[in-house]
Amino acid sequence: MRVTVLGSGTAVPVADRFPAGYLLEAGGLRLLVDCGPGTLRRLPSTGTDLGDIDAVFLTHFHTDHCADVGPLLFALRNPRYAGRKPLQLFAAPGLDRFLRLLADAWPWTLPRDYQLHTVELLPGSVAVGPLHLQVLPIRHTAQSLGYRFADPHGGGSAAFSGDADE
Ligand SMILES: [Zn+2]
Repeated sequence: MRVTVLGSGTAVPVADRFPAGYLLEAGGLRLLVDCGPGTLRRLPSTGTDLGDIDAVFLTHFHTDHCADVGPLLFALRNPRYAGRKPLQLFAAPGLDRFLRLLADAWPWTLPRDYQLHTVELLPGSVAVGPLHLQVLPIRHTAQSLGYRFADPHGGGSAAFSGDADE
């Protein structure tokens, strides 16, 4: 299991940190946890192509944690990604509304030539491919979730709180 920090900053621009974005490679999957502005810009330096991403998990809907979802969905309409594997997008309830409103403003974020699967998560445990995922409520916004990914085949675990008050 490998975590690459693509961004760990805040909404305030600084020279040396992008807002939140993490690449998690585990169980043969490549996952993004949060997708703040700059996440896509940082991704190629990890050797990961956008077409390789299996799923995106958002900890909450603050702009510095999800602003690159629009550019991500727009980029995936590029013909080079036609027929790519389905992209799964996970977040708290409100995700589908968020995507609907995004598509109202930017219709070119709607999927073309690939499938987008969305899952609105509640606290609890779910399987993500071979990984076990624990979803936890986080005190920050009404729709904040924390994630703990574990590889049951001896691959360790990684946890992401997103922003957390207290
Ligand atoms: Zn926040």
